[in-house]
Amino acid sequence: MPTLSPELSNRVLNLKPSITVALNNRAKALKASGVDVLGFAAGEPDFDTPEPIKKAAIKAMLDGQTKYMPTLGDMTTRECIAHKLVTENSIAGLTGEHIAIGAGGKHVLYGAMQCLFDFPQPMEDPWEMILPTPAWVSYRPICELSGGVVKEINAGPETDFRITPKQLADAITPRSRVLILNSPSNPCGTMYSESDLRDLAKVIHEAIDIAPNLVVLTDEIYEKIVYGEHTHFSIGSIPEIADRVITLNGMSKAYAMTGWRIGYVAMPGEFGKKFIKSMGTLQGQMTTNITSFNYAAIREALTNPEVAQSVETMRQAFANRARLIMGRLSKIEGVTCPPPTGAFYVFPDVSALFGKTSKGGTKITDAPTLSQAMLDEANIAFVPGDDFGGLSGNHLRISFTCSDEQINEGMDRFTGFVTGLN
Ligand code: PMP
Ligand code: GLU
Repeated sequence: MPTLSPELSNRVLNLKPSITVALNNRAKALKASGVDVLGFAAGEPDFDTPEPIKKAAIKAMLDGQTKYMPTLGDMTTRECIAHKLVTENSIAGLTGEHIAIGAGGKHVLYGAMQCLFDFPQPMEDPWEMILPTPAWVSYRPICELSGGVVKEINAGPETDFRITPKQLADAITPRSRVLILNSPSNPCGTMYSESDLRDLAKVIHEAIDIAPNLVVLTDEIYEKIVYGEHTHFSIGSIPEIADRVITLNGMSKAYAMTGWRIGYVAMPGEFGKKFIKSMGTLQGQMTTNITSFNYAAIREALTNPEVAQSVETMRQAFANRARLIMGRLSKIEGVTCPPPTGAFYVFPDVSALFGKTSKGGTKITDAPTLSQAMLDEANIAFVPGDDFGGLSGNHLRISFTCSDEQINEGMDRFTGFVTGLN
């Protein structure tokens, strides 16, 4: 009898699980088992999806919109998204043909990377993705799954986690294929100003001879959640580089629709059309269209003024929470961070706590041991910074997608934990 010995691919065996997803699941499981855990790990709004959006999906379902649809979405919805990007984000020349709708921002990012990188690629001269860090944990693995090689540019709290034009210029080579930008930022909660983005765009424009293949992928999924000195600005609106910019967005964060799994990418111009068509070919062999009755929900979210009011109410709540949590954090010794201006995260430097020992006897050597000890001893779930790349190992990510009461209680516990260190 031959022995059965199935094997998994090296690609999945070497794939790092998402720490944000893992920690959130761990906190939820602990809570379900009766432990009084306060979760600050989830990167999702605690609000429910606005009612008109739900009603639009229910109506579409009841009206019989329950069959396969065009792979990248029906043209009415793609045009609705194009209209939003042209009018709100000033990205010129977009039509429905420049839009691909997929199953979440993560999924369209995956698709985009598959369309831009080759797998396998020559080891001696690989195509690169330039990744300013700290960066959301999924950019690197998704790039690597697609055959790309990640080149990090590291930024720290002293520049509000923004890379400089000089750093970008130094990183661009003939092998540069994609530059990731993410403003407002996960995990930092900080933003690039319009003038920062114009400076970066100038570098990209001037590097066209060095890096003719370079495109920018700008992840603007937190665009509606801004509350500081800067307004959101789309780099795809700058004419000199517009045809080299893929704008990624989705419904998850702005409309509290994380569970619906809806994301999209847009790219103008002739190459944009080609790129979007290739997204369709790929998606046609993967998931086909997203859930059929969700298209009506997208249109409702993007056009109903009542929904816009709900988005504004959520924005104000995040703004108030940002102030509350910063006020509390600034009083905890050994914890420093720039104030957030967008998204719903703070990313404090906690390295001053490394080397100490907790009340429960855990030696705190780094962010993962700190995060674990805080979960075990104070029952608060914060994400250790390490997987956000670059200099992130000195940080914890705290997501303030919860009530003021929970923020206060969590900060009481954090303060108590830090006071108990010696
Ligand atoms: N980009 C960033 C920066 C994110 O934080 C997230 C949240 N997971 C996503 C994209 C993807 O979100 P989703 O897949 O829920 O649309
Ligand atoms: N983007 C969110 C986060 O960073 C959701 C989890 C994930 O997909 O990474 O927590």
